[in-house]
Amino acid sequence: MGYQTPYAPTRTELSSCIQCGLCLPHCPTFRLTGKETDSPRGRLTAMTAVLDGITEIDEVFAETISFCLGCRACEPVCPSMVPYGRTLEGARAEISARQGGVPRRLRGWIMETWLGSPAIMRVITWATALVQRTGLARIAPRRVRSGLRGLRRIGWRAPSLRGRTFQPDREPVATVGLLTGCIMGPWFAEVHQASIALLVRAGYRVVVPSGQTCCGALAAHDGAAEGAARLAVRNAAAFRGVDYVVANAAGCSAHLKDYHHWAPGEALGEAWKVRDITELVADAVEDGRLPRLEGGRGMVALQHPCHLRNAQRIVTQPQVILEAAGYQTASIDPVCCGAAGFYSILRPDTSARLGTDKADEIRRSGATLVASANPGCEMQLRSHLAGEYRVLHPVELYMQALSGTTEGQV
Ligand code: SF4
Ligand code: SF4
Repeated sequence: MGYQTPYAPTRTELSSCIQCGLCLPHCPTFRLTGKETDSPRGRLTAMTAVLDGITEIDEVFAETISFCLGCRACEPVCPSMVPYGRTLEGARAEISARQGGVPRRLRGWIMETWLGSPAIMRVITWATALVQRTGLARIAPRRVRSGLRGLRRIGWRAPSLRGRTFQPDREPVATVGLLTGCIMGPWFAEVHQASIALLVRAGYRVVVPSGQTCCGALAAHDGAAEGAARLAVRNAAAFRGVDYVVANAAGCSAHLKDYHHWAPGEALGEAWKVRDITELVADAVEDGRLPRLEGGRGMVALQHPCHLRNAQRIVTQPQVILEAAGYQTASIDPVCCGAAGFYSILRPDTSARLGTDKADEIRRSGATLVASANPGCEMQLRSHLAGEYRVLHPVELYMQALSGTTEGQV
C-alpha cells in the first residue's frame, strides 16, 4: 500500500543510507536493547520496506518508529548525510494518518490548538500554578507528577511580550523577531527577559510579532503534520520583514530552521533566516559587542540538547557564553537525556532510565549548577536531580553574571 501523505519519507532520502552501521553505537535506543530494529539503520530499512510495499504500516512498524527518541544523534555521524529526522517526521505523519480515531485526533488538536493559543495556555498556566501551590500534585498520575517536579515555579500569569519592540541605544546591527513559543512565554519568562536584554545590549532591535504562534515542533514530532504545517504558515507571515527569527528553545530553533519542509516557498520567502539565541549571543561575545567577565564563578555542567547539537550542530556557543559569564564548564555525555518532547509521558520507563543516567553523570562532574538551552531537557534534568541543583539557560546565567544577581530555581 505504501505511503499516502505528502510528508512521507522519500526514495531519495531513504536510499541515501548505505547501511554502514556507523550510527549504531551513537543511538540511545540501540544502546539500550542491542536490536537492529531499534537502530537508525533498522528504522530506515523498515521505512523502505513500507515504501516498497513489502510491509504495511502496522503495529510493529508503529512500535519501531515510536520507540525512537528523535534525538538525531545518528545524523552528525552519518557519512552519507541521511536526513534521518526528516524521514522520522514523515513516518510519524503516515502512522498518524492511518491511526485516526478519537485519541489520535485529540492529540493533534492539543498540539495545534492548545499549544497555538495564548488564551488556552493562560488557562493551563493558571491551573499548573494552582497545582504547584496546593497538594494536588500528590494525587496526579505518576507520569504527570514526574513532569510537575521538573517545572520552574510558575507565576499565575506571565506578562505578554507580543506586539512589543525593544530598541538598542545605537544604530541596530539587525532586526530580530523573537519567538515567544507555546510554553516559553508563560513558563520560562526569565529566559525571554535575559534574551531580550542581551540582544539589545549586543545592538539588535528586537521585535515580538503579535501574530506569531507555537512553532509546531511538538506537532511535527508527534505526526500531526497538517497542524504543524498550518502553524508554520502562520509564523512565516508573522515574522515577515525581520532579518532573523530568533528562538531560545533548541527544539523551536531547530524546527524553525526546517520550515522549508512545512511551509510553501512563497509563504516563507527567500529571506527566512533563523538563529538560536546561543548563536547570536556567542557571536556578540566573540566580536566584542558583549563583554567577557572575570572567571572564578565555579563549575557548570553543560548539557547539550539534541536539537542544538545534533539538529543544528551548535556545540561550542553555549560554552562561549558560560565562559564569558565567568564559569568553567564540565561537558557531559551528549547522549539524549530522555525528555524528547512528549516521550517522557508516552514512554516513561525509557525516559526515566536516560534521565537517571544523566543526573548521575552531573553529580559526578563536580559542577555546582547546570545549564541547558532547551526547556524540555531542563525539566527532565530538574526532575531527575530532585532539587539538588539550579538548572538554567546559559543566557540567564550570563545575564545574571552581568547584572550581579544569582536568582534561579532548583
Ligand atoms: S533519532 Fe536518536 S533514537 Fe532515533 S534512531 Fe537516531 S539516534 Fe536512535
Ligand atoms: S550512518 Fe548513515 S548511512 Fe550508515 S547506517 Fe547509519 S544512517 Fe545509514
